[in-house]
Amino acid sequence: MSGLPHYANWVNGKYSSPTSDHIIVSNPATEESIATVDATSQEAVNSIIKESLSNFRNGTWSIADATIRFNVLVKAAALLRSRMEEFVSLEVSQTGRPVQEMKAQLARIPEWLEYFASLSRTYEGSVTPFKGPVINTLTRSPIGVVAQITPWNHPLLIAIKKIGVALAAGNTVVVKPSELAPISVLKLGELFKEAGLPDGTLQIISGYGRDTGKFLCQNPSLARIDLTGGLLTYKAIAPIASQNMIPITAELGGKAPVCIFPNMEVTEAVRAALFASFIASGQTCVTGSRLLVHADIYDEFVLEMVKRTTALRLGDPTDPTTQIGAVINQAAVDRCAAFVSHAVEEGGKLLCGGDSPDRKGFFFKPTLIETDGKSNLFCNEVFGPVIAVVKCASEEEIIELANGTSFALGASVWTRDFAQAHRVAEQIDAGILWINGHHLNDPSSPWGGFRESGMGKENGREAYESYTKVKSTVINYGVPPAWFDAPGEQARYG
Ligand code: NAD
Repeated sequence: MSGLPHYANWVNGKYSSPTSDHIIVSNPATEESIATVDATSQEAVNSIIKESLSNFRNGTWSIADATIRFNVLVKAAALLRSRMEEFVSLEVSQTGRPVQEMKAQLARIPEWLEYFASLSRTYEGSVTPFKGPVINTLTRSPIGVVAQITPWNHPLLIAIKKIGVALAAGNTVVVKPSELAPISVLKLGELFKEAGLPDGTLQIISGYGRDTGKFLCQNPSLARIDLTGGLLTYKAIAPIASQNMIPITAELGGKAPVCIFPNMEVTEAVRAALFASFIASGQTCVTGSRLLVHADIYDEFVLEMVKRTTALRLGDPTDPTTQIGAVINQAAVDRCAAFVSHAVEEGGKLLCGGDSPDRKGFFFKPTLIETDGKSNLFCNEVFGPVIAVVKCASEEEIIELANGTSFALGASVWTRDFAQAHRVAEQIDAGILWINGHHLNDPSSPWGGFRESGMGKENGREAYESYTKVKSTVINYGVPPAWFDAPGEQARYG
């Protein structure tokens, strides 16, 4: 499309020539096209992976001293901080999320690079308590060329989380951002090059998931696939990956319960729920999409929650006073509307919202629906600002409902009773459990779900270790190799 800037793939340290097929990227808040990106073919994907493998094997990065990796990642963090304004503006225009949200989110992203830089520099192997006069060391090395497939909701945060850890561990990375919001990630190539990353260590390619994403996952040379996306995408990838014995990290969907107990001040409980439910227009994997409210506080809570929800300022994401931005596209608007009508058909009570405002762009009003623990809205991920509210008779019922879906990613428990906080938290099956908080995260803190929310972790030592392989070296300094010469009790077999 003429006149639009084109962001080409970043391969071997430079932007490659644009592909003949382009994908148009739009601003969800204005519905205007803002850029084009490449639609990468299978031939190109295979050739990029082949070169990436040879880059990995030449060792410039994979066996580089940890001090080198540390310096590059720390410099990349500093460069990112210095270009914050540009990246914030790209994120706002390609996601339609409010500028205030993106400023706050992006301000912390360099911490991921710094954390993994430090881990790379300080990670220590170990020595096992191996029996006998033997020393057994465990050392870790990078695994190879890894594919990272990322979603559109937090384009830069999720890409940096994955890129940072994989590079810190010495791997070569091929990232494919979502076709809906790929621009900020495509801009990272130049930044890492400037930070000193050897060419060909970070390859960034764009394309549709069903094509480019699939082509990536079909390549047998990958050492790991790291996906953040929906369950259906995982199910499309997993059979192909298993044929090539490629392990997968899968950060999938959620249906986070926000468990509210009556000893909370109503105003505080409402503040908590508003943030959990409507940050990013409900488009996060840990959106507090099920408000499980104890009966003793329920009526007062609902009254105040509806008042505050209706008053949220929805509008132009570039306006710093806007609190609710757009949803990603027309399909998201339609999905929200379908969840609302299904919930009402099932007997749910629409408390507020329920449709799109009368304005250009893809918007959906923050919506609350009183429902029960069996409804479609309660059990399935909307990935938008349509929230289930359920009145619960007891602590036991809150726990039962919190565990009542196939997801197990995030959950929060809000109570002033210390013993209750621990008692309830212990019984909720979730990869990330917050007490008197929601969506708090840190590069050091493992992030990932159970059951249909996925497998494996981002962040922390767990993520770092998943991007390495362990070599067990057994150093014998006293066991004679005498099995056939000295049989019997003296000879050692294993
Ligand atoms: P999606 O699964 O549609 O897309 C994610 C990525 O997968 C995109 O890059 C897409 O192009 C690619 N893809 C799609 N089909 C593919 C295929 N067949 N083969 C290979 N790649 C393919 O998800 P989305 O709409 O971008 O994101 C929303 C989903 O992501 C929600 O379910 C949300 O809960 C989840 N999510 C999870 C986390 C987490 O940390 N657990 C974080 C953010 C989003």
